[in-house]
Amino acid sequence: MNSTGTGVLGRVAIVGRPNVGKSTLFNRIVGRREAIVEEMPGVTRDRKESEAEVAGARIIVLDTGGLTGESDPLAAGVDRQVHEAIQASDLAILVVDVTVGPTEGDAKVADLLHRSEKPVLVAVNKVDDASREQDIWAFLSLGLGEPFPVSAMHGRGVEDLLDEVVGLLRASRGDTHHEAAGESVGEADERVADGEGRDPREEHEPRVALVGRPNVGKSTLFNRLVGEDRSLVHDMPGTTRDAVDTLLETPRGPVRFVDTAGLRKRSRVDDSTEFYAGLRAREAMRRADVALLVIDATEGVTHQDQNIAEYATDAGCGVVIVLNKWDLVDSEARAELEGEVRERLGFLVGAPILRVSALTGRGVAKVMPAVWSVLDRYRARVNTALVNRVIRVAQARHPAPGGGRVLYATQGAANPPTFTLWSNRRLPRDWLRYLENTLRRELHLEGTPLRLRVRVR
Ligand code: GDP
Ligand code: GDP
Repeated sequence: MNSTGTGVLGRVAIVGRPNVGKSTLFNRIVGRREAIVEEMPGVTRDRKESEAEVAGARIIVLDTGGLTGESDPLAAGVDRQVHEAIQASDLAILVVDVTVGPTEGDAKVADLLHRSEKPVLVAVNKVDDASREQDIWAFLSLGLGEPFPVSAMHGRGVEDLLDEVVGLLRASRGDTHHEAAGESVGEADERVADGEGRDPREEHEPRVALVGRPNVGKSTLFNRLVGEDRSLVHDMPGTTRDAVDTLLETPRGPVRFVDTAGLRKRSRVDDSTEFYAGLRAREAMRRADVALLVIDATEGVTHQDQNIAEYATDAGCGVVIVLNKWDLVDSEARAELEGEVRERLGFLVGAPILRVSALTGRGVAKVMPAVWSVLDRYRARVNTALVNRVIRVAQARHPAPGGGRVLYATQGAANPPTFTLWSNRRLPRDWLRYLENTLRRELHLEGTPLRLRVRVR
């Protein structure tokens, strides 16, 4: 990260060959209508940068327009300057011109970007109306995916592009906020993340919510997990007023257990009515990456366990299932319970299932490794070529009814893995579920929710 300053999410470089509309896009993003852009050939302007508020975040935008006075974008010195601009940023927008189509010059800049290994979005500019939209696919040949049709001049498509910019910056920063719970991540979050003297690294620790019905053994399990070595445990304020989080050092790094106030106390807190406990649990899951769902094995999987599991998935959490009080169930009941888990929690495809006795400590050592294994998948980034290969095979085997087809796909975000699919028309829900399950299986993303965003072209 090269981002500087308080509350700035990241730096974005706008690059591309001359005359594609970089400066126009820059001005559109920073909200400034620069009176005159010098049009004299050969004039080298300074690299310009400006702060901008976009999609609820602050970014710094770098304009490299005007770096190149000549038609060869990689003329003497320009290569280096573009290279420097890319190095100085967290993400690049490659601007290309739909009226011209992909050129040698585009390919040269694309090549620089490939080598930089920074995230790149391709903005296909001058798509002033819908009639040009199908022409954007030609730019897939640049190998940078994600062609976004925009009209820098009229503002068309620029918001979508900026949403993606902010999403990618957040993802690469390891932010765990997600839109799944319908939250929009706004400025307020930025201030919490970067200001007020809090250690920004705090924001990167994986977060776990220990959830389940009352009396299933959450406190007992929690005290087992954190209990042995006090030096490995730190209390810290949670986000809401009376919430306390607990930071637990594990061999793979610290993990933050959210809203643990009620779990640390020996006595039951008086807010443990089922209703209130439910609210708290939902709030905790909204903040968490992984939900550790504790189920009382003596009672089986209840309707309320199912509700919590569904909420966890909706909130975009990975899930680890803990069947607790295993010491109390005989072998017959065990077999029955396993059937119940398959049947009632089957939608948590591939979530680890642990058999534990928090009381005796049996099986507890497996809990944190299971959490980490789900976290790894939750945070996974999958290579675009691989995603497209899996989708191609899936559609060949089982085409979507009604002639729908995914034209191209890419993983737009992690935490949880979020795939953007560009399709020729709307895709049926059932078929998307099939695709989701195929992606999960082929990409080894069991235990984490996947998000599919479909963009119809
Ligand atoms: P740069 O050299 O890449 O910075 O390109 P400029 O921003 O200077 O734009 C080059 C030319 O393309 C100018 O004449 C712009 O008015 C024009 N242009 C920029 N964006 C658009 C657009 O979205 N649609 C159309 N039709 N023209 C555009
Ligand atoms: P919470 O409300 O989910 O936090 O549940 P507690 O941790 O307070 O546990 C509720 C009751 O279940 C207590 O009496 C615990 O001693 C008991 N308990 C918790 N875990 C186990 C277990 O693995 N085996 C047995 N036999 N009892 C347990």
